[in-house]
Order: sequence, then structure tokens, then C-alpha cells
Amino acid sequence: MTATAQENAIAVADAFLAQSEIPLYINGAWKPARDGKTFEVRRPSTGERLATISSAGAADVDEAVQAARSAFPAWSDLDTRDRAVLLHRLADAMERDQDVLASLESRNIGKSLPEALDFDILFAAQGYRYFADLATHTTLSRPLPLANMEASQVHRPRGVCGFVIPWNAPSILTVWGIAPALAAGNTVVLKPAELAPLSVIYLARLAEEVGFPSGVINVVTGLGSEAGDALANHPGLNYISFTGSPQTGKLVAEAAARNLVPSKMELGGKGAAVIFPDIDVKDTAEKLGMAIVRNAGQTCCTATRWFIHDDVYDDLVSASVDFLERIRLGPDTDHATQLGAVISEGQRSRIQSYLDQGLEQGATPLLEGGATQLPGLENGYYVSPVLMTGRPDNVCAREEIFGPVAYVMPFSDEADVIEQVNSSHYGLANSVWSEDLNRAYRVAERMVSGNSWINAHNVFAYGLPYGGVNLSGWGGGVNSQQTYLDYLRPMSVVRPLT
Ligand code: NAD
Repeated sequence: MTATAQENAIAVADAFLAQSEIPLYINGAWKPARDGKTFEVRRPSTGERLATISSAGAADVDEAVQAARSAFPAWSDLDTRDRAVLLHRLADAMERDQDVLASLESRNIGKSLPEALDFDILFAAQGYRYFADLATHTTLSRPLPLANMEASQVHRPRGVCGFVIPWNAPSILTVWGIAPALAAGNTVVLKPAELAPLSVIYLARLAEEVGFPSGVINVVTGLGSEAGDALANHPGLNYISFTGSPQTGKLVAEAAARNLVPSKMELGGKGAAVIFPDIDVKDTAEKLGMAIVRNAGQTCCTATRWFIHDDVYDDLVSASVDFLERIRLGPDTDHATQLGAVISEGQRSRIQSYLDQGLEQGATPLLEGGATQLPGLENGYYVSPVLMTGRPDNVCAREEIFGPVAYVMPFSDEADVIEQVNSSHYGLANSVWSEDLNRAYRVAERMVSGNSWINAHNVFAYGLPYGGVNLSGWGGGVNSQQTYLDYLRPMSVVRPLT
């Protein structure tokens, strides 16, 4: 990309942020909250205010749900191929404005522009294309072979789907939610996280530009306790998908259950990496190191518990410390930043509080890091990487910290390490590292979670199912053909022949 193109993209993002208030998007119109409330979004790299956003209340959420209800009949009656065309056009517009979106995402999340572009924006655009193509190639009606009856099973869209998402990957978590729902013919009301709504609002602009009909996509920015609560409790929903912490997930699932609304829960994790001695030490250290550094470790499925075989423990710990000591901690403006700021001062304090508690409970630091300041960026929310070790019942070995931290433990026995991995209440994703593929597959399948990776961690692809079990969620996960079917209700149609 040329310097001029990049300057232009930054200027477009600047103009977007400079609005006195960034409004809600309801029924194809941009409007402030009815009660005039707003909230501020901050830039993690510097702590400065980035934008002022309209803060939806229950009345705004209700208007959005009613708009989505009104838009549903026409949208669901469209030919699947016509909906797919719009999803492809949205992906086209995202790719055209990729640098604007990446600029917003990197400023809002604290990561570098190249990381936001490659990992967030371009991968998100692909997701709209995947579900557009999947919808056009999936046959949904099938005859049922019954005596004396002409019967079939068909699938119809559910209606209005609500989405509540967290702040750690807004573009990606938006597409993982709304793309299958829209492709299947549902209309959506989306509540982004109050800490990171910017790229999602810009996406709504693009959806409007490429011609999504009014009311098909509605974005209600606001606080969790207000807009999120109102959406979760709305009886006009036909489905709700929640991504976030198990604590909030329980509230959303309870609200949905009271209204008998089916729900999908994509929750937290405490991913394990099991490392056997037959590995390339340097390569593994770099890959596991990057797993806790990318997105500042704020990735639900990342490798936060490292079980290292005794025979390679010292070598791998030493290579990991060496790699992490050299990680470039920096602001979103530095393209070479490998570890950006965490999302907020609150998140930084939460991480530091876990580290303090872990040390009080007897953990030993292998690499001392934690909350830190960078010269000239004293108000940014920086945390340098941490490796610690200790007993398996330490709070840092059990709870989700959501920062650049890994808890390291030695092991010697395969069955024993599998039991330790499975002692977690979470069940999102784990990895196993070994050149012995028989062993790797054996261990991968015995670890209880939605996803097991071999010689890699954090592997995502459209068509590869991704989801959790136990405290990590329920409801079929995301990114697969099954996800598309989750947004359809099966029904039988029958004609007796006598
Ligand atoms: P969170 O649960 O605090 O918030 C998530 C969303 O819920 C936000 O939009 C928030 O405004 C909203 N919310 C808060 N209170 C609410 C309420 N009472 N009713 C309805 N909505 C409410 O989570 P977070 O701190 O934003 O995100 C981090 C968590 O998300 C971590 O646990 C992480 O592992 C998880 N996560 C999971 C996945 C996955 O795919 N499984 C992906 C990303 C993040």
C-alpha cells in the first residue's frame, strides 16, 4: 500500500471518529439514543479519548428489535442467492476500506495496523464470503421416505437474532455471528462491546452503502447492563448468540430461557498446551510465545497453561524466556509492535491482580512482567509478558487471566497430564506438541474441549468448527456448516396420500 493511500485511509477514520457523537443504526437510520446518553471509547495505546458513542437504552433496543421483525418477511423471502450477493458486496466493501477498518480496529484494540489488517479485517471479510457461498450450495429440503405420505423436511429462517459480543476481536466475532444468520435469511440486532464498538459501527455504514435493506442489520451500541441486558431479555427475539465471559453468559442464558429463546454461548477458556520432548524447541517457544503475545493475550482459546515434559522443561522454558524478553511492546502506531496495550485500565488492573494473587499463593516467576509504562506513553495500558510456575491449584493456573501470561507446569506421564488438562472447568481449546503423530492424535482426542490442535495453537478457518464445552459454552459453535443450520428451524411438511 502506498503512503498516500494509507494517509487517506487514516483521514477517513479520523473523520469518522471526529463526529460529535457516533449514532446508533436502527431501521436503516442513524440516530442518537432516545434519552441522549453517550459513552466514551478510549485508545489503549495512549489512554486518550477516541470517540463519543450513543448509548442505547431499553427503548432503543426495542425499536431495533421491532425494525428487525418488520424487515424479516421480505428478507427471508429473498432468494438465497440474492442475500449471498449482498454478503459478497459487504466483503468487497470491507476489502476496499480495509485500511480504514484496520485503522479503527488497531486504535480501538491497541494492536499494530498490520496485525489488525491481516488477522482481523481481511479474515473477517472472508467469513461473509464463506457463509454466502455455503448458503447457496446447501440443499435444505429433503424427502422423507414414509409409506402413504408425501413428506419432506425443510428449513426456514428463525426470525430476529440478537448478538452480544465482547471487545477482544470485534470484526471477527461480528462476522462469526451475523454472517450465518443473515445468509440463512434472519434479521439481526447486534450489541457490540462498549470498549470496542468502532469497526462494528463502520461495518454498518458499509452494509447500508452496499444495499442491505433497512432493518436487516441493526447496531445498538451501549453498556452491557443497559443495552445488553435489554437485548438479552427481549421477548421479540427468536434466537440469541452471546460471546463473552461465563459470568455474563449465565445472565444472558437465564434471560433467554425465561423467554424460551434458543441460545448459543461462546464463552471463556483456559487453554492448555501439552509439550512432549520430541519437538523443535526454538520453534515451539516462538509459537507458544506468540500465542500469549498476539492480541495481548486477550484471546479466549489461547495457550495459558503450558504442560512441559520433564525431559525438555529446562530447554523450553529458557527458549521461551529468551523469546519473550525480545518481544517488542509498543503502541498501535508502530508497525513493528508485536505486543500492544491491553484494552483498558480495568483489564490491566485485573491482570495485575491475578499476578499478585498468584505470587501470594506461592507461584514462582520465570519471567517477571506485568503492568508497565512505556516512555512517552505513560497513560497507555501496557503489560509485559509473564511466565510463572507453581502448583496446579494456583489461581493463575485455574482462572482466565486474559493477558500476556502463561502458567508453566512440568509433567512426566501422558495419562496424568491429560487428567490435569481436563481438570479445568473450561473446555474451549488445547494443543499437543510432538513429532510422534500417533501420540499427538491420541492425546488430542482425549483432551475435553471443543478444539484440539496439533503442533500449533489458535488455528481458525472457515469450515473448521470452533466452539466450547462446559464453562466455555454450548450451542454448536461457529464457522461451520452446522453454524449455518443453527440459524434455521427444521420443520416437516407432509401430505397423506390416501
Ligand atoms: P463480558 O461478558 O464482560 O462482556 C461481553 C459482552 O456482554 C459485552 O458486549 C458486554 O457489554 C455485554 N454485557 C455485559 N453485561 C451484560 C448483561 N448483564 N446482559 C447482557 N450483556 C451484557 O466479556 P468481555 O470481558 O467483554 O470479554 C472477555 C470474555 O469473552 C472472556 O471470557 C473471553 O474468553 C470471552 N470470549 C469468548 C470467545 C469465544 O469464541 N468462545 C471469543 C472472544 C471472547
